[in-house]
Amino acid sequence: MPERHALLSPSRAHRWLECTPSVRLEEMFPDKTSEYAEEGTVAHKVAEIAALSATEQISEHGYNDLLSMLKKNKWYTPDMLEDCTAYAELIRDKWLALKEKTGDATVMIEAEIGFEKWVPEGFGTADCLILADGFMEVIDFKYGKGKRVDAFENPQMRIYTLGAYETYGLVYDVEHITMTIFQPRISNGVTSDEISIDELLTWGETYVKPRAKLAFEGKGDFKPSAETCKFCKAKASCKARAEENLKAFDEGPDVFLLSPEEAGKLLERASDIEAWLKDLENYVQSSLLSGAKVPGWKIVEGRSNRAFSDPDKVVETLLERGIPEACIYKPRELITLTQMEKDFGKKAVAEMLGGLIVKPAGAPKLAPESDKRPEYTPTDEIIKKFEEE
Ligand code: SF4
Repeated sequence: MPERHALLSPSRAHRWLECTPSVRLEEMFPDKTSEYAEEGTVAHKVAEIAALSATEQISEHGYNDLLSMLKKNKWYTPDMLEDCTAYAELIRDKWLALKEKTGDATVMIEAEIGFEKWVPEGFGTADCLILADGFMEVIDFKYGKGKRVDAFENPQMRIYTLGAYETYGLVYDVEHITMTIFQPRISNGVTSDEISIDELLTWGETYVKPRAKLAFEGKGDFKPSAETCKFCKAKASCKARAEENLKAFDEGPDVFLLSPEEAGKLLERASDIEAWLKDLENYVQSSLLSGAKVPGWKIVEGRSNRAFSDPDKVVETLLERGIPEACIYKPRELITLTQMEKDFGKKAVAEMLGGLIVKPAGAPKLAPESDKRPEYTPTDEIIKKFEEE
């Protein structure tokens, strides 16, 4: 995978398209890596070679050599290989289906694309492109498991698609475009969206182009929200975000008790407050730990729990005193399904225990109206339970 990164990268498009000054503000902060990012990089490399092998672009021998090198990485797991193999199989099936339909189809893994026509210095790498006469599909592999990323109206996917169309689309006279996200660690994690060439190009010209220009120049209005600020490097010290969160308290209720409608409105306006306070806390704490003074705050020693210094000696002593083992050890407990899948692999667990796995209905959970899940209709029993609490 190329190591170059565009300033206005597709992966951050959801932020710079909304909050255009964020890109230049973020330049003031160092790049940080996380364990999730390191794991994601390894998974992308495994996915890349699995896809190359499944589409006959590297030999079995070459694949095994590359895989054995990746297996030495601390983030590699058999589960990762299983997920990446499923991604490769999806690509192969789509490629073969399109080949059958059109007579010829090309699949490109880690395809370099350019979208400078709409985004200054815009370039990137699409995980997978499948091209055939009149057709194009852009597939993105996502290894995150915290948050579902849906392909529907996804700006990152659309910018990849603009780049793919600009770079290869004319050769194939593309008319039909599909964008697919493959996110194996999220249930039902394969989502797709379609867009016409006209709609895509209009979106690029009328929405992306002017906003990318503003973003590149560091101009435009700050647009703080829980979504845009979540991964912004400026999130802890950004004044626009602080002001937006404090606004939630501007219009105080004029009666003593909040109605459910007023509570709902407050929740909506305060959706970023919890995350913002956590970011402020981390910011002040890391400033103090690096030696800065922050009036009103200091670092103290946190709580700690007592522990046995020598667990084997503890067992020996208790047994000598005649205390039975059953009173010393925790009762035997079945490991969780997730742990089992980690230990034996998802496929093996599904084969052995598929008929014994159930997914009970989830407990009712508050969600904003924009949430894609269908509305839950509570049973009388659940309403009664909530009223009792
Ligand atoms: S923290 Fe939010 S409002 Fe501030 S620059 Fe970043 S995305 Fe924009």
